[in-house]
Amino acid sequence: MSFKDLGLSESIVQAVTDAGYENPTPIQAQAIPLILEGRDVVGASQTGTGKTAAFALPSLSKIKALGRPQILVLEPTRELAHQVAEQFEAYGKHTGCKVALLYGGVGYGEQLEKLAKADIVVATPGRLVDHFFRGTMRFGDVQILILDEVDRMLDMGFLPVVRKIVNLCPWKSEHNLPREEREEEYKLKTLPDRQTLFFSATMPPAIQGFATFCLDNPAKIEI
Ligand code: AMP
Repeated sequence: MSFKDLGLSESIVQAVTDAGYENPTPIQAQAIPLILEGRDVVGASQTGTGKTAAFALPSLSKIKALGRPQILVLEPTRELAHQVAEQFEAYGKHTGCKVALLYGGVGYGEQLEKLAKADIVVATPGRLVDHFFRGTMRFGDVQILILDEVDRMLDMGFLPVVRKIVNLCPWKSEHNLPREEREEEYKLKTLPDRQTLFFSATMPPAIQGFATFCLDNPAKIEI
């Protein structure tokens, strides 16, 4: 199975070749087709398994460079946010899509400049909410919300803020109709939809409950 066979767009396959990756890792082979199909995904996966590319490659394949945040990634720490933003930049280098990296403890100037043109936002929760209150972060075009390392976000006390952020993103199913039956409804009423990807190394009950709140009929991936 090659990256090309997974259905990724040409510019993404090119970036993967540039990165020197030959074959998808198991989590990539599982997650990429599901994400391209539009499914919500919940993944129990450690770092080091190729998890970041598993969510970044198909997400980037689905957006166009519009200069509005369409992919939003939440990370528990600035180090992780930094690493993930770098990977989005590398994999998206032939797409024209731009990345903004938002975290606390530093000034706003450069972040504001990047955010004004960004297609992808990678952020820690506190600073993202600060940008929302300043009116500089808009959630209305977010198509893909990625919650990474959710167990660490729980440990750090971020879940209440993350829950608020989830609620700021476009519509999520509030009822239990299967996705296929809702598809017609989306077309007729042009309801905004959002895809959510949820990753956590461990899944204690608090995280499972939060996953149920965030996700719509998710496909489960375990590595
Ligand atoms: P992650 O699990 O996302 O932290 O990724 C671990 C490392 O594996 C990163 O440095 C990636 O650059 C690298 N990587 C991701 N996917 C592949 C792949 N398919 N082949 C080779 N290396 C990869």
